[in-house]
Amino acid sequence: MTATHENPFRNLPSIDRVVADARLQALIDRHGRDAIVDLAREVVEEHRRAIESAGTAPADDAVDTVLARAASLQSTLARVVNATGVIIHTNLGRAPLARSALDAMQRASTGYSTLEFDLERGERGSRFTHVESLLCHVTGAEAALVMNNNAAAVMLALAALCHGREVIISRGQLVEIGGGFRIPDVLRQSGANLVEVGTTNRTRLADYEAAITDRTAAILRVHPSNFRVIGFTEETPLADLVRLGHERGLVVLDDVGSGALLDTRAFGLGAEPMIQDSVRAGVDVVLASGDKLLGGPQAGIAAGRASAIDAMRRHPLARALRMDKGSIAALAATLEHYRRGDALTEIPVWRMIALDEDTLGRRARRWSRACGEFGIARAGRSTIGGGSLPGEELDTVVCAVTPPDGHATAFAAALRAASPAIVARIEDGAVLLDPRTVEPSEDTHVEITLARLCGRPVPLTTAD
Ligand SMILES: *Cc1c(COP(=O)(O)O)cnc(C)c1O
Repeated sequence: MTATHENPFRNLPSIDRVVADARLQALIDRHGRDAIVDLAREVVEEHRRAIESAGTAPADDAVDTVLARAASLQSTLARVVNATGVIIHTNLGRAPLARSALDAMQRASTGYSTLEFDLERGERGSRFTHVESLLCHVTGAEAALVMNNNAAAVMLALAALCHGREVIISRGQLVEIGGGFRIPDVLRQSGANLVEVGTTNRTRLADYEAAITDRTAAILRVHPSNFRVIGFTEETPLADLVRLGHERGLVVLDDVGSGALLDTRAFGLGAEPMIQDSVRAGVDVVLASGDKLLGGPQAGIAAGRASAIDAMRRHPLARALRMDKGSIAALAATLEHYRRGDALTEIPVWRMIALDEDTLGRRARRWSRACGEFGIARAGRSTIGGGSLPGEELDTVVCAVTPPDGHATAFAAALRAASPAIVARIEDGAVLLDPRTVEPSEDTHVEITLARLCGRPVPLTTAD
């Protein structure tokens, strides 16, 4: 407390004294002394101004204020445990990478690489060649190209093949993918003109046929990946679109979205369009994401006929939308699992889809035991997410926690405050944690955190 007869500036902390406080040592080690001195100067200066205007120093301790502000020096990108049961969780970074993809990324990024160098000839090479033959092999396409993401690949295909001309698309496919990515907007930005045909629920071949003029460049099919129209619906089969397009000299483009290379029906899920099926149907360019069901890094895949892919590769936008070397390496390593036939065991997204209920049940029960009377293992549903297979769910076993104080929101927030944060979901007043999307190596962290938050002894055994 400042006595009134005292000079209030005597209570102004010195920058040196603040920086010397033992509580700041860890921050100095982490961020460097200069950054912490800057923060201390800022806080002391605020104290001085407060004394000047109000006559007394702020009640807050200067060191505490520095500690709080230092949080902003850290990147907010942090690892989290995804216990939501949403496998391709766009907000949590979509597909986790396979171990091999991570290793390849590290090898390509920590040293130099053959990114644009031809070792045999000792001359400049192309960054686009590294995954092309692999992609052709797994999709059956004549040629392939990779971009920064699928939005970029769609944009490039339209710019390279349809600029200044018309593109026909069904009204049922004028979709917004998420984050404001709307197909009509992309079409406009690419310089192509959109021609809408049919209605929201039904579009027939005759609708496409009637819209073809001498200004038409392409027919575009977009997989409405994140919603489903049910009831009185009709979409024209891809094979019919390809036949019509090629009869009339048009390019046929197919944005399949998720880019599945394996059949989701083998896991009791609905059918998700597969890249190789579109290639087989004769589409000129199939477009897909790398980090959805393909299970790789952020990437946009274009596979199809050589003439169309070449036009895309030569377009000036290809430079602006190109993929980074680390991601190219990771994508190649991911695709190799499909070629070798071990994608189901090596690619995390597919491993999670394929997890059996016995294993899930065992893990959910162990988590529940850590919660004592507050936790119970029960049947639940995991989803694919990432705009794939809307409405489709996988049976799972979740750990349902009814928190000691009954506050599910507060309990979920406490889970997020753990290090690393655990993200769960709330349903009917209970906090649900789904082991399907949690790496088994993270189980102990989940168990210990649950026990702590439920006020229970921390489990020591790892036995079932
Ligand atoms: C997800 C998606 C996109 C966007 O893909 P990104 O890789 O996120 O750019 C485009 N089209 C469809 C149909 C999608 O599902």
